[in-house]
Amino acid sequence: MRLKDALKSSFSLTTLFDIQIDKMLREYQEQQQKERPSKTFHVSGLITEPENFCSRQKILSYNEPDKHKQDLTGGTRRIFWNGNIHHAKWQGLFLHAKIAEKIEVTHYSKKLHLTGTPDGIIWLWNKLYVCEIKTMRMEVFRSIKTPPKAATIQANFYMYLTGIPRAVILCDNKNDHSIKTFWIDFDPTLLYTYLSQHDEVLKYYRANKIPPKTCMSAKDKLAKKCKYCDYCFK
Ligand code: SF4
Repeated sequence: MRLKDALKSSFSLTTLFDIQIDKMLREYQEQQQKERPSKTFHVSGLITEPENFCSRQKILSYNEPDKHKQDLTGGTRRIFWNGNIHHAKWQGLFLHAKIAEKIEVTHYSKKLHLTGTPDGIIWLWNKLYVCEIKTMRMEVFRSIKTPPKAATIQANFYMYLTGIPRAVILCDNKNDHSIKTFWIDFDPTLLYTYLSQHDEVLKYYRANKIPPKTCMSAKDKLAKKCKYCDYCFK
């Protein structure tokens, strides 16, 4: 419900406040979205395991207007906002300490029509590092013994895009603010699966075509959790 309508009704202040917060976050996040380069593929969208990959889904998502993609619940918006704050505390510190080469700067590969925005690129011990920040709950934080897989792939994509061959994954425990760091070197073999999937997507993107369906019916495992299921099967 819009704030204007709610004010006319007899909603409690708590409900009105919820609606107001949702409106503020929506505007903030839409502004953030506008500042991002439009119409490219994003690193985060490439990291799909083969059993969940559908080139048709990737092309449909690419073609979807941004405002449809932002159709998030208030709760999800607040989770994203919280993530932003946790990132900002580290980024602010790097800036203050003057070790930040770049913070949230988007890099683009024309060849792959791909953008990626590392959380930071920082100077440590006279070397540049890609810095990927991950905030997590205590239970997840405690269970991590090796570099988290998705973050490692993401950092490798950023290393590929920036040409910086090393990265640090900074894991931040949201409960007690303890940290773990993982120091990794560029390993292109980790990207092969995702790049070959992306090649297939690019083939359809360049031909301006919608790929054939991966699923056989709306009952397929993939179709059941796909937002384009109706488009494909109705
Ligand atoms: S429903 Fe299946 S075929 Fe259609 S886009 Fe989704 S995953 Fe691909």
